[in-house]
Amino acid sequence: MVTDDETVLREQLGRPLRGVRAVAYRCGSGHPTVVETEPRLPDGTPFPTLFYLTCPRAVAAASTLESIGVMADMTEWLAADVELAERYRAAHEDYLTRREHVGHVEEIAGVSAGGMPTRVKCLHVLAAHSLAVGRGINPLGDDTLDRMAELDDKPWTPESCTWRPSEGSAA
Ligand SMILES: [Zn+2]
Repeated sequence: MVTDDETVLREQLGRPLRGVRAVAYRCGSGHPTVVETEPRLPDGTPFPTLFYLTCPRAVAAASTLESIGVMADMTEWLAADVELAERYRAAHEDYLTRREHVGHVEEIAGVSAGGMPTRVKCLHVLAAHSLAVGRGINPLGDDTLDRMAELDDKPWTPESCTWRPSEGSAA
């Protein structure tokens, strides 16, 4: 990874991010949006989150959705819709397959992220998955991106994102 990206990532997160392998997705204006991380961090810690959302504006939009109860709505939807549940389980398998391709870490074998395959625990994880692999794989990641774009206050799409390094992190 080029040094410029490392500098920008450190600013986006307000700290160095450990175990970054590559930038998996970029906003239209060029900064990293999602990074792919090692399943085992340099200090040996297992890290199940293969795709990590870094763009501060994207992080903020996903946090807004979490704060207004979207995860509970999605969990109910998941319980009521068999086809959605099947697609979400397939998304979980996609996540695991991609992570296994990077490396096998026994402690997190079979464990993906974000609550998959049966719960919704982190919209940042689901959105990052959809951005990294493209739409049509993770239905609730895709839905998260749709809802981020439709927020009344500070809607976010990667195409319209104008975050600049001088803005700092979302925190
Ligand atoms: Zn952005």
